[in-house]
Amino acid sequence: MGKYIILLGPPGAGKGTQAQIIAKEFGLAHVSSGDLFRENLKNQTELGKLAQGYMNRGELVPDDVTIAMVKERISRPDCAQGVLLDGFPRTPAQADALEKVLAELGGKVSCVPYISVAPDVLIERLSGRWTCPACGNVYHEKYNPPKSAGKCDKDGSELIQREDDKPATVERRIRVYMEQTAPLIQYYQDRNLLVEVDGTQSIESVSQQMLAAIRKG
Ligand code: ADP
Ligand code: AMP
Repeated sequence: MGKYIILLGPPGAGKGTQAQIIAKEFGLAHVSSGDLFRENLKNQTELGKLAQGYMNRGELVPDDVTIAMVKERISRPDCAQGVLLDGFPRTPAQADALEKVLAELGGKVSCVPYISVAPDVLIERLSGRWTCPACGNVYHEKYNPPKSAGKCDKDGSELIQREDDKPATVERRIRVYMEQTAPLIQYYQDRNLLVEVDGTQSIESVSQQMLAAIRKG
């Protein structure tokens, strides 16, 4: 049976950064709903065009299309060993839908590491974030710089700053998180799946605590 892990935390907490490390360690597929939307946007699919306005405003894409997109993705063969979900679920309705989809696939969520970081730190993290448009690897100009300035360590691509990492949009995204996603902390606490990790530590310390939590979970 597959292992299903949900990375919970506000935008900029370090979910994508940790996902790369954890997915490799456990041989899980890394499924980021944000990456899936950005891929659709790049390819100008109907879904991408629909999502664009919401993303640019820092709002959530409606539940029905988001759930359908993630359901299709986690049903593919490369997800049979399990999935590390990053950025999904983001609402209680998405969490309920996920429970149903996993039951159909014969699985269930085994652990929900929650990376906690205060809002002022998030703003600094997101405004210094640089992303590789080719492989999705994330960097920070101060905390996790690439070896060669402006270039991805993995494939040498020119790094870019995300449209929605502008200060006004970042603030909106954090507000949306507080209102719509933060209730999931209690949701997974009630199911005894939540493990809180202090996300203000170094990337290495956060990884170590998360790996330990997942091994136990
Ligand atoms: P999320 O996927 O949760 O939005 P990211 O993984 O993209 O967050 O991280 C946001 C930014 O913070 C990136 O620039 C990343 O390099 C940086 N970052 C991630 N974890 C840490 C950490 N523990 N300490 C300092 N900076 C970090
Ligand atoms: P992220 O890469 O996780 O920061 O997501 C970027 C943007 O994609 C968000 O601000 C939302 O507009 C959209 N998005 C990503 N995941 C979801 C989700 N689970 N539900 C709704 N919208 C999402």
